[in-house]
Amino acid sequence: MMSAEIFAVGDELCYGRVYDTNSFWLADQVTKLGVIVNRITCVRDKVEDLRTALEEGLGRSPRFIFITGGLGPTPDDRTIEAIAKLVGRNVVTEDLILGEMAGRRGVPVKDLSPGLRSMARTVEGAECYPNPVGWAPITIVTVGGTLLAALPGPPKEMQGCFTTYLSEKVAGVTGYRSISHRIYVTMYESEVFPLLEDLARSFDGAYFKPLVGEYKQNVGLPVEIIVFGESEMVCREKFVKLLSSLKQEVTARGKGLI
Ligand code: AMP
Ligand code: MG
Repeated sequence: MMSAEIFAVGDELCYGRVYDTNSFWLADQVTKLGVIVNRITCVRDKVEDLRTALEEGLGRSPRFIFITGGLGPTPDDRTIEAIAKLVGRNVVTEDLILGEMAGRRGVPVKDLSPGLRSMARTVEGAECYPNPVGWAPITIVTVGGTLLAALPGPPKEMQGCFTTYLSEKVAGVTGYRSISHRIYVTMYESEVFPLLEDLARSFDGAYFKPLVGEYKQNVGLPVEIIVFGESEMVCREKFVKLLSSLKQEVTARGKGLI
């Protein structure tokens, strides 16, 4: 199966002041599209730190690298610079983006603010597409076998860009999908774990995780189940079989499952 890495960029994330919801959302999306996310990295707004982190990521040869943040108009937004250094190309201003910005603003290109101009920067030779929600465009470059995409930081913009420009691209090449479901069992983690291990052995592409941290009084222990398969239909069929087999094992022990 294809793999991905996600890089979230921002000092505020590393200071613990803003939740990295972008990585969480992206990981969920690409997992559904049948990609295995092998690593999520959070880095500060430092060109050299980001460049190094990306270089290490590329060294692991994932099929996709998704970067979020650092595309804004302020001097701390350095993601484009880091990618340019990574691939040894120049930072350029994209005329098509300037034109699109001018059209939306209803002004000639020459009257665009320095902030907008700075957001129209991309990496020489990259694909660069307008942001359907905000201003900073998305930049996509291919390095060896890795598609590397830089998405804006604001969650709604990141989601809009991913949905508009990447989800179909990713869906078209993975050959897999996944579905996830959360069930509750009236068992301790140590009781249910061996049952889950047995299931994982008999169902290829199934992942289980008892979530003790989210135990619900009077309901039970949540167990997250993810099933991978060649299509959503295959995933569903596998899931139904898997669930009925787990239910049998749980009820045979006098316990409940919902
Ligand atoms: P930036 O362009 O990186 O300065 O980010 C613009 C806005 O998006 C700021 O409010 C950031 O805190 C927010 N943001 C950036 N990265 C993330 C992330 N990974 N998760 C949630 N919000 C983020
Ligand atoms: Mg930032």
